[in-house]
Amino acid sequence: MATGLVIGAGPAGLMAAEEMAKAGLSVTVAEAKPSPARKFLMAGKSGLNLTKDEPFEAFLAAYGAQAETLRPILTAFGPSAVMGWAEGLGQPLFTGSTGRVFPTAMKASPLLRAWLARLEGLGVSLKRNHRWTGWDGTAALFETPEGARRMTADVAVLACGGASWRRLGSDGAWAAWTDDVAPFQPANMGFRVEWSDHMAAHIGQPVKGVALHAGDITSRGEFVLSKEGIEGGGVYEVSRALREGAPLTLDLMPDRTLTDVRGALSKPRGKDSLSNHIRKRLKLDPVKRALLMECGRPFPDDLAPLIKALPVPLRGPRALDEAISTAGGLRFSALDDGLMLTARPGVFAAGEMLDWEAPTGGYLLTACLATGRWAGQAAATYAQAG
Ligand SMILES: Cc1cc2nc3c(=O)[nH]c(=O)nc-3n(C[C@H](O)[C@H](O)[C@H](O)COP(=O)(O)OP(=O)(O)OC[C@H]3O[C@@H](n4cnc5c(N)ncnc54)[C@H](O)[C@@H]3O)c2cc1C
Repeated sequence: MATGLVIGAGPAGLMAAEEMAKAGLSVTVAEAKPSPARKFLMAGKSGLNLTKDEPFEAFLAAYGAQAETLRPILTAFGPSAVMGWAEGLGQPLFTGSTGRVFPTAMKASPLLRAWLARLEGLGVSLKRNHRWTGWDGTAALFETPEGARRMTADVAVLACGGASWRRLGSDGAWAAWTDDVAPFQPANMGFRVEWSDHMAAHIGQPVKGVALHAGDITSRGEFVLSKEGIEGGGVYEVSRALREGAPLTLDLMPDRTLTDVRGALSKPRGKDSLSNHIRKRLKLDPVKRALLMECGRPFPDDLAPLIKALPVPLRGPRALDEAISTAGGLRFSALDDGLMLTARPGVFAAGEMLDWEAPTGGYLLTACLATGRWAGQAAATYAQAG
């Protein structure tokens, strides 16, 4: 019987293991942590956004520069396949108003339990506390509580994840044992802002109903003011452009035109403070007024353009380890069409360790599952041909 080794028990690795086992391989999954899929479980804490139910071309476009590379892989396993897969594991789903798809349980543990049971039924063996430390020829080397171990298999799939939230297992250490890695960078991350003391009362508050602009990206998502700066879905959506140096501006009244805002503010101010005048004339809520007062100084005579495009002075992205996901990773130029490392025949790679990035919204998990499936199938074909 042909043998398959998967390194990393996140969603990409488990999917690769499932495909190889279904194809008839004897599969071992080696996981560094004492339990599998810790980041997947963490994703479940915010509801587990599995995919996005939208037209395929719009879905694919979210992968930016790697959209065309991923096209065949996501065509084979895209949003509807992800939904069918989760339902097949006994997880009813619902689709939110923006097309984001979640399990109705709004967590990952029931899905993961059902998935691990299915894998066990397929004969997949999970080795916990097995930390891959590199290669010795064709053997994969591991640190385990019982000491060093070597494992060989006909094929291997690397699925070690990116380089954020290292406490959950994905520490990016694998980059040292693999050639052709594009430098890691944070993706879907918050940004630092040095707030003045005036903002203290607003820390922790959500900012809703604004538009964030950075480069050619606009987000209508919400975000939160934190002690360190800004974070949350709306910021993550524009984070790639911000990381590349585009300035951030906020449209505090995206549903009203500049002329309309200017007209409202042209009414006499009387004895009102500027903040009160804005409150009365525009009905801006306190957190938006606070942002205007914080970021808008010195105030021009005509405030309307500032309200439509308030510049927020960012002090750079939060640390890589705090990012939701990682840009960079194993370059596609080092892989063949089946995601096999051309320098290491029989070794494949999948998931966030590959060099692609996407916004939050279900795009991350979908591509992890799809590349895991693709690499697992290609590995099984390779093993059985050899
Ligand atoms: C807070 C948070 C919320 C998120 N929410 C969502 C969401 O709602 N929707 C979405 O699409 N995405 C979400 N994501 C992102 C998503 O969870 C990841 O993109 C996805 O888990 C990556 O899957 P993966 O299998 O490639 O890697 P991982 O899930 O990181 O798994 C890699 C596995 O490999 C193991 N490993 C690493 N190195 C070694 C080694 N040397 N030896 C052995 N094992 C090793 C790790 O321990 C880990 O178990 C979220 C991420 C975070 C942090």
